[in-house]
Amino acid sequence: MLNRHVFRCCAVFVLALTGCIRDEPSRAEFVLGTVCNITLFDQARAQVYRDVFARIREIENHMSVNLPNSDIARINAAAGITPVQVHDDVFYVIERSLYFAGLSGGALDPAVGPLVSLWGIGTDNPRVPSQTEIDSVLPLVNWQNIELDYSARSVFLKQPGMALDLGAIAKGFAADEAAAIIKKAGLKRAIIDLGGDIITSGKKRDRSSWKVGIQDPLDNRGSYIGVVTVGEQGIVTSGVYERYFEAEGERYHHIFSPQRGFPADNDLMSVTIIADNAMDADALSTAVFVLGYEKGRALVDSLDGFQAIFVFRDNNVRITPGTDFVLTSEDYRF
Ligand code: AMP
Ligand code: MG
Repeated sequence: MLNRHVFRCCAVFVLALTGCIRDEPSRAEFVLGTVCNITLFDQARAQVYRDVFARIREIENHMSVNLPNSDIARINAAAGITPVQVHDDVFYVIERSLYFAGLSGGALDPAVGPLVSLWGIGTDNPRVPSQTEIDSVLPLVNWQNIELDYSARSVFLKQPGMALDLGAIAKGFAADEAAAIIKKAGLKRAIIDLGGDIITSGKKRDRSSWKVGIQDPLDNRGSYIGVVTVGEQGIVTSGVYERYFEAEGERYHHIFSPQRGFPADNDLMSVTIIADNAMDADALSTAVFVLGYEKGRALVDSLDGFQAIFVFRDNNVRITPGTDFVLTSEDYRF
């Protein structure tokens, strides 16, 4: 699915990029189906930018469903037939996605591939499938039928027709990998923004913390409802506005309930998760969005080191304790 993220908007953006330090260099490229923006604040060395984007491209090559030779495409083609040996990155990301699948009772399900294909959201031909079609693919969407062999580093989908889709987590992983490369190069201050999956490193030049704008789900890209102050953290939003299509007056977005086979339908417009790394924030933002506020909030509260910002359809906003968030838009309220 990664390649299809063409319409995806930035969910969050870093105020530093639009504010006072605009002059400092950054580099943007289209990878993982989205605009990836890297900003190095100390020494913006061309080689570091090259290394970072090469790594992100490598991850895309391994994990995209749409590249026929990617590990994910090979796993999917071998569903029900044979285990497929994969690159360590792929094994690790699948392993983490299964961890969050278990934690969320299957709200995050990396086996969501058949549903993603059926609806085609983000492709040129999205459509509302019939209930019969949905019923026929639902049994295939089951993370418990993904088998990992730790010694062979192989992945097996037990049922023919099953398909992995790492769209909910791969960008977070790529953001963390980008941050690691920058750190290894000795650069202390950076912002990595992979289409709204953000990871911050270091502090602003005046030693204050980074402030990240949270996208207004009802407004244009770049207008925000408020600002969250973060440390060296991953900040990731899942929202109804990121990718969707409209049919007969209804809007259908890209985050599915693996139980119902429809876009998750609840009173939320977006969920932002702040965590120590972008991959966990990415996995959890999707899972919590699918779970809805009550169950999603309970899940966040049960975990150490995660914060959340919930934006509701009625323009209410809620945050978990410890979230340093200031509401700035008059259209929203706590
Ligand atoms: P995100 O924007 O991180 O919330 O991820 C959404 C993307 O993950 C979608 O475009 C699909 O490719 C995939 N996806 C949709 N629903 C689910 C789900 N319930 N579990 C796992 N992945 C999903
Ligand atoms: Mg996600």
